[in-house]
Amino acid sequence: MDDSEVIAAFVRSWLSSPDSPMPWLAPEAEWVRPLAHEHRAAPLYLGWTATVFARENGEVWLLDTEWGTGWSPASAFLRRMALKRASVGAPALVAILPIHRQGAAVCDHCGGTGRLREPFICTCGGYGWLIPGEDRGMGIG
Ligand SMILES: [Zn+2]
Repeated sequence: MDDSEVIAAFVRSWLSSPDSPMPWLAPEAEWVRPLAHEHRAAPLYLGWTATVFARENGEVWLLDTEWGTGWSPASAFLRRMALKRASVGAPALVAILPIHRQGAAVCDHCGGTGRLREPFICTCGGYGWLIPGEDRGMGIG
């Protein structure tokens, strides 16, 4: 299975039950469930201004929940960060998390651990490494 097939299988599995657990989200995130079912997607990460969803076609997209600009493909960085966050409660996603690649730099903020005090997410997205010069885009909170 390639990455998109793993994501698609995860989404189908998550959507198969109306009350599928989503332990990677805060308990107050239940509001996103009807939205996810409406769009045939599984929420991976809730930001202040957008939610990152895995979609049934295996892609990872953002839904702007602040400015009404709708859907857009997640940047490579947001995709990586959101999959990492969701993998805590969705072990099927662990298999597709990228490994430290040649040319990546150890993250100075977390010292390479990928972890900060909860609920904060390190600027490396939780991996402990960064791709020098990568556009991490506008934060979504
Ligand atoms: Zn870091």
